[in-house]
Amino acid sequence: MPVFEAHIEDVEQRALTGTLPAQQDVIRLMTQAYQRYRTLDEGVVADYIPILGRADPARFGLSLVGVNGFVHELGDTAVGFSIQSISKAFVFALVREALGHEKLHEVVGVNNTGLPFNSVIAIELNDGSPMNSMNNAGAIATTALIPGADAQQRWDDLVGGLSAFAGHPLEVDQEVYRSEAETNHRNQALGRLLQSYGRLAVDPAEVVDLYTRQCVLTVTSTDPATMGATLADGGVNPVTGERVVSAETCRDTLAVLASCGMYERSGEWLFEIGLPGKSGVSGGIVAVSPGKGALGSFSPPLDPAGNSVRGQRACAHLSRALGLNLFASARFDSTEGALA
Ligand code: GLN
Repeated sequence: MPVFEAHIEDVEQRALTGTLPAQQDVIRLMTQAYQRYRTLDEGVVADYIPILGRADPARFGLSLVGVNGFVHELGDTAVGFSIQSISKAFVFALVREALGHEKLHEVVGVNNTGLPFNSVIAIELNDGSPMNSMNNAGAIATTALIPGADAQQRWDDLVGGLSAFAGHPLEVDQEVYRSEAETNHRNQALGRLLQSYGRLAVDPAEVVDLYTRQCVLTVTSTDPATMGATLADGGVNPVTGERVVSAETCRDTLAVLASCGMYERSGEWLFEIGLPGKSGVSGGIVAVSPGKGALGSFSPPLDPAGNSVRGQRACAHLSRALGLNLFASARFDSTEGALA
């Protein structure tokens, strides 16, 4: 089935406008959100990757990066954690940038499975399709599409691209890598299952290893905020000024995050928060407000779908308080300007 863009590619594109509130208001409202949820004691720290079970549940870092380069950080914003599934969003963007609008739609898909992030049955129910790039199978299929002569070049391009989004070199946490590589039997099975359906053009063991390494890059909560702000800024990192991807890639990436970024809770997340977002099982969240900026949070206790509880609450609070929700409108005020 052809994607819609084939029919509308000659249409001139405009982007959403609007700005964040004044800096002192952003600081005040972020402090409010941080204080309100700092002591919230709900959720469970993931331990299916053994080393993640050692995380301190009290940690809470909250960061915002605006498209004007404004950065505000509260709490444990210096504590490193593995990026985990948040990497899926940015690897999607790199592959989308390299291969164009249609390729990922065709090969992986852009619809939600309604099933958990590591579901096997989702593949079986959909004729071998992983359905979208934000669950584990789809992310493995997406990583498999990174161009490059060999595994080393694909890894160098992947880590270079993610580092450009973050604005500094990202590094693998070797201890988390070992813990994950020793126990990721399910991801290896997902790789094999995709192979059995003829949906992987490369060796499954190699691509699962690449995927595992992308998940164990160390970040702080400000990194996903900066990476998200790059998607909010038409593809230019607002802190470094470097263009990382095109505006069209940002648009496509954010659309997939909106529908699939929070797994089977994506509908509820959109209903409450109204922003494209992505979570990771170590407790990170990025929420992106196109044209304005992005929030990054880190707090290990998770809900049953694997999304950080404090992070979701803080994003819900700030999406309302900062006016970020994509679906919120106010009555047109004719004294402020004419429509025509
Ligand atoms: N690396 C993790 C996994 O493959 C990522 C999952 C997640 O963050 N939800 O299970």
